[in-house]
Amino acid sequence: MPHEVKHTYGPDQTEALGAELASRLAPGDVVLVSGELGSGKTTFVRGACRALGVEGPVTSPTFTIGQVLGGSPEVAHLDLYRLGTLAGEDPALLDDYLTPDRVAFVEWPAVAEPALERVVARVLLEHAGGDRRRVTLT
Ligand code: ADP
Ligand code: MG
Repeated sequence: MPHEVKHTYGPDQTEALGAELASRLAPGDVVLVSGELGSGKTTFVRGACRALGVEGPVTSPTFTIGQVLGGSPEVAHLDLYRLGTLAGEDPALLDDYLTPDRVAFVEWPAVAEPALERVVARVLLEHAGGDRRRVTLT
């Protein structure tokens, strides 16, 4: 995918960027979503999920590393913030969520990055003052 930098001025615009990316995804694709707390990672994923037909709430999972949200293709949403390291974890941990027939969005992906296959896009969200965010898609 081409390298793109965009600025958004509110959550709805970040959701729209997520929706735009979603339209380019195929089953099995994995999208890494990075950025500080509150930078808009989950907001971006929410926009993508809506475009893929997910109707329920899209929030970062709290007690698990991920959740499967429905949609077509089905969406897996992972947040690895609390995982720390994959060392000592069951390597199949991610396989519960990442399947060839789902698209997956992974927040805080760094710990798992070496283990992630089919990464088709990387999204970096950065605070740019107030409600402004810099969104880099590679
Ligand atoms: P993260 O998952 O990165 O911690 P969230 O998406 O959960 O971040 O939260 C981002 C917060 O910032 C939300 O409260 C959202 O309404 C707010 N916000 C303000 N401006 C923007 C913007 N341009 N893009 C995304 N979120 C924004
Ligand atoms: Mg989040």
